Amino acid sequence: MILYYHAGVLWEEGDFLNFVLCTGVSCSKQEAVNIKHNIAVPLLEKFSNQNKKTVQRLKWNEIDEQLYRDTISEKLSDIREDKTTSENIKTLTSILLKASHLAVPSKITKLKGPKWKASPKVRKHLKTCKQLYSKWKALGKPENHQSKQDLKSEKKKLRSQQRQEQATDRRKLYEQIMDNPSSELFFKLINRNKSKSKTETSGLEIDEIGTVHPVWESASQSLLDVRKSMIKARMLTGTYLVQADKYKFSQYKINATCLLCQREDEDLTHVLTFCPALRETRMKYFLPLKILVTNIIGCKGWEQLFNINQNIVALLLDFSVFHSMQNLSKTQKMNVESLTRDFCYKIHICRLQLLKNLENK
Ligand SMILES: [Zn+2]
Repeated sequence: MILYYHAGVLWEEGDFLNFVLCTGVSCSKQEAVNIKHNIAVPLLEKFSNQNKKTVQRLKWNEIDEQLYRDTISEKLSDIREDKTTSENIKTLTSILLKASHLAVPSKITKLKGPKWKASPKVRKHLKTCKQLYSKWKALGKPENHQSKQDLKSEKKKLRSQQRQEQATDRRKLYEQIMDNPSSELFFKLINRNKSKSKTETSGLEIDEIGTVHPVWESASQSLLDVRKSMIKARMLTGTYLVQADKYKFSQYKINATCLLCQREDEDLTHVLTFCPALRETRMKYFLPLKILVTNIIGCKGWEQLFNINQNIVALLLDFSVFHSMQNLSKTQKMNVESLTRDFCYKIHICRLQLLKNLENK
């Protein structure tokens, strides 16, 4: 049985239909508003993928009331006694939907498809890619053919362009945050780092069975996120090799001094919190984390807890060791986890690049 909620009362569908027919939909704007809302819900369930649908918000305060009433009264004769109640309810629903569609302006609040807006350059590459693909397809998709090579290299150009633009965009956001921090920018950053997964999987959510380490809990399924989690997990489990480890494993033949700065032995604390060569990257990715954690535990809490580098390392790798950070909401935990994961990964990439540069010298 379908129940309708209207005017603070739950109605069975027959009663509801009678009510609508007896009182007339045009009784007052407010009631019409409620009716529309309550009936629209089951129809929306038709959309199978909630993440992808375009969500629109109806602006009821800008309704063209006359048009709304006229549309409804014009169609109301479609509701007849010789039909079953549920058929009539369906008809009524579609009448109300049609009327609101015609008479109520709407505003898109969530767009279908990817949020990334393609730049003219990206669009050009996309177009070429499509053309090359059609060409290759028309030839019967031959494996060893120039057309496939062309397509491949164009795809590569497209990806590289996209990556460049994303990097520029990200850098701009970070610069903005550094120059003029505001909570609006900060939430933009958090949202960005949440990076929606393309495929939904329950593989990592095993809360009922046992708790997962946050490293995995907040990692969405994109390959990059998994890679980031791997780096952090290696740091956490002591399998991320730094110079001090090589020193031990080589039976003290390899020097433990940091190759990048030559200041002191390179252990994980040095990499994550001290090495001047990584300073720029560290500042950039540590600030958002500091803002977030300070928001949670307060400035005093931050100063008390994170005045020594060892604790900062613990915050970066496993913040659950801190008493004051155990009662965070799930979202807060996910956000802290996401930012620390990003931090570790960026430091890792930067270190790798600098080491490579040294090697090539
Ligand atoms: Zn160093």
